[in-house]
Formats: sequence, structure tokens, C-alpha cells
Amino acid sequence: MRTIGLLGGMSWESTADYYREINQGIKKALGGLHSAKLVLYSVDFETIEKLQHAGDWKGAEAVLVKAAKRIEAAGADFLLICTNTMHKLADPIEQAICIPLLHIADATAEALLEHGIKSVGLLGTAFTMEQDFYKGRLEQKYGLEVLVPDAPDRKIVHDVIYQELCLGKVVPESRAQYLRIIDALAARGAQAVILGCTEIGLLVKQADSSVMLFDTTLIHAGAAVERAI
Ligand code: GLU
Repeated sequence: MRTIGLLGGMSWESTADYYREINQGIKKALGGLHSAKLVLYSVDFETIEKLQHAGDWKGAEAVLVKAAKRIEAAGADFLLICTNTMHKLADPIEQAICIPLLHIADATAEALLEHGIKSVGLLGTAFTMEQDFYKGRLEQKYGLEVLVPDAPDRKIVHDVIYQELCLGKVVPESRAQYLRIIDALAARGAQAVILGCTEIGLLVKQADSSVMLFDTTLIHAGAAVERAI
């Protein structure tokens, strides 16, 4: 079994889900008392969030590159960055280490293509929904059409992530808002919706919606299990 490297803590609420999902996946695949071999480096998210919202991506890069190098030095065979947003820094992180990066957007795009999806809605932080590092990768590398909510709804999605989900708060009114936004994306032609922030699965589950949902935490953790065995 290969050793999985997790660059987590963004936020720890979703990293805890990665840890559980990966271990459950290994147990399911190998049985008995098998569990994942993994190295976790968990950052202080307060520091990261401040750098993000100040636009100091170089500062965030320095923190994450240092963490990734430590994960590699601790014996990981490959790396997962346990957040969609910080894949904005996937290239410099990948260049700083010798082990491969298992990119969350690649794992997600492969799952979408397996299901024959061509047009997909995307929910995530404003960084993920509005910048090119994520949406652009899905469009250019995989030929997907990516729809995002309108500006007022993007603000709702973003604020719920930072003000509630990353603090472990699950608010029923926010779930209703998310479900309304998911339905609006489907009405515009999205065949499915990507839960493109690793905390959204805390709020919205497939059972809540008739629209097909692709939870990036579950997909990324599943891809890690496959690569590890
Ligand atoms: N975990 C979130 C994501 O998947 C947001 C937190 C962050 O800014 O990294 O994008």
C-alpha cells in the first residue's frame, strides 16, 4: 500500500471527513484491520483565510509549499491538497516537491465524464467559482461546460462556507438556499452540480436534491484510496 499525503486543515472540518473517508475506503477494499497509511499536515486555517482575503497568494504559497515538503519528507508517496480553493496554488506546490499531486479537479472531471456529464454547475468559494484555475481546467482540459450561480448567489455560497461551514455550523436556512441555487443551475441546463468546496458535503447531501451532485471531498478521497492500493 502506498502512503497518502494530506495537506489539510482548510478547514479541519473537511479534513476530518477526508481522514474518515480514506480509512473507510481502505477498510472496504482490503478488509480486516486494514487502515490507510497516511501523513497529514494540518495548517492553521485562520492564517490561510487572512492571506486569501488579502489577496496575498505568495504568502499562502510559502505556507503550503513548506507543508508539502514536510509531507514528502515524512514519507508520503503522493499528495492531496484537501481544498478546492487552494488548488489555485497547485502548480507551485507541485513544482516544489518530487512526489505527484492528485489534483481535485482532475479526479472530479473524470467522475463527471464517467457519468456522461457535459454541462455542470459549480458551487465553491468565490475564488473557485470566479477564477480560472478550477473552472478553466474543467473547461479546457476536459471540455466541460461549467455554469456558476449569478453574483448575489455566489456571495451567499461563499459567505456560508467561511462564516458557517468552516466553523462547523450547519444551518437549515443555508441548506435551503443552497438547494434553491442548485435547482437554478439545473434549470439553466446543468446536468449535475459539483460541490466544489470540501465543506459543502456537511450541509448538502445527495438525498437532499434530485439534481445529481458530485461531492469533491468524497471523489478526491476515493481517488486517493484507489491510488494507494
Ligand atoms: N475547503 C474549501 C474548498 O474546498 C474552502 C476553504 C479554503 O479556502 O481552502 O475550497
